[in-house]
Amino acid sequence: MTPSQLAQLKARLGEITDLNHANALLGWDQQTYLPPQGGAARAEQSATLQKISHEMFTSDETGRLLDSAANETANLEYDSDEASLIRVTRRDYHKARKVPADLVAEIARVTSQAFEVWTQARAASDWHPFQPHLEHIVELNRQLADHLGYSARMYDALLDQYEPDMKTAQVQATFEALKPELIDLVKAIAAKVDAVDDGVLHREYDTDQQWQFGVDVIKRFGFDFERGRQDKSVHPFTTKFSINDVRITTRIDPNFLSPALFGTLHECGHALYELGVDQALERTPLSGGTSLGLHESQSRMWENLVGRSRPFWKYFFSRLEQVFPAQLADQTAESFYRAANKVMPSFIRVEADEVTYGLHIMLRFELENDMLERRLPIGEVPEAWNAKMQEFMGIVPPTTKDGALQDIHWSIGSIGYFPTYQLGNLISLQLWEKINQDIPDLMDQVERGEFGALLNWLRQNVHRHGRKFTSNELLQRITGSSLDAGPYVKYLRSKFGEIYGL
Ligand code: ZN
Repeated sequence: MTPSQLAQLKARLGEITDLNHANALLGWDQQTYLPPQGGAARAEQSATLQKISHEMFTSDETGRLLDSAANETANLEYDSDEASLIRVTRRDYHKARKVPADLVAEIARVTSQAFEVWTQARAASDWHPFQPHLEHIVELNRQLADHLGYSARMYDALLDQYEPDMKTAQVQATFEALKPELIDLVKAIAAKVDAVDDGVLHREYDTDQQWQFGVDVIKRFGFDFERGRQDKSVHPFTTKFSINDVRITTRIDPNFLSPALFGTLHECGHALYELGVDQALERTPLSGGTSLGLHESQSRMWENLVGRSRPFWKYFFSRLEQVFPAQLADQTAESFYRAANKVMPSFIRVEADEVTYGLHIMLRFELENDMLERRLPIGEVPEAWNAKMQEFMGIVPPTTKDGALQDIHWSIGSIGYFPTYQLGNLISLQLWEKINQDIPDLMDQVERGEFGALLNWLRQNVHRHGRKFTSNELLQRITGSSLDAGPYVKYLRSKFGEIYGL
């Protein structure tokens, strides 16, 4: 008996997945252990694997197998593994075939140069050398959008690369509803900025002990060190080579507790998502998180909704105190909880708190659309940036380094990426409302250091599906509604209203 078309398709996709995961392993090594002189060879190795994988995936043979396997499985349910495999892989396939190889090559060439220039421009806080490179990148992104195709907004095509099926209009409407609420709240808190003192976070903390404390917490969360590990890197990230091999990294600052502590909880949230994918999806294109926004909803949930909650610190403060008795001698669980939730308008996105974070993202979303649709000349971006900072948070960056040059994303060609961070925040609260209905004593469990019911709920409703459903589909299935800023606004108003006595 000859294998079915579906079996042949699966065998081919299995090999492509192997290539992609091998390439991810090269990338992990590059950011953790690679000696500096190994970089050039590594770039070649990675490009070769990528090329072979891309050629195999976009070949006519893959298309033929997809079509005949689709015929074989035409009667299967929409949410079956097989129908989902074909639906999602077809979407990937058509997207990958739409972009000509020479455009991909040109984007790679232009961005590798732009990244070098950006690094120096940022150090010098000078926009001008970077400007022509960004002009080129924006133009290439317009061409990319034209190839990918869109009906309403050019930005749709770019956003779709990171958040399949999400439309610019939907994001814009949600952000517009959110913006005045956030601006209001930030203003009210800024007037009482001294109500919270976070000095305790900036004392001296032994780095090994910081590492160990983070590991103890994520073990309790359910991170399985038999199926994953943690290492150090300059920029923390999560990667995976199998459902049973998920890696996270962290960075430790001897004079600041937050990067290692909350960073570890954040990456653990990403990792739990990847570890929770149904084993039946292993070695297929469905074996991962469904989108950047959904992924970020998981990391933010464990970092903020759990890790920055009062019940969490009622349980963990005494444990942290045992590790750092001298540093925490003047603290209580309550004062530490407040310190962990200090809000302050600031210039740098990656250091922003829960309340101001969204404004940093909306600013970038608006500017990206203006650049792409030619309403904003690239030379005027720094001024437009500063004007929005003034409007949103009442502060103006003193230098371009603290303004339009701060993020790596544009220099590497990623336009349409930023909104997914804030979509993650919004989705995390939509899910959180539903979780609290389904597990009414959730926060009592957190206060006892118990996270099993929460993790089970997430596995059952989100993680196990891998890439079978888009974020919009998952939201509908789980909450019965589409993207909605309501729960997020309610959460911020209640939590920070109480902390700041508003
Ligand atoms: Zn993240």
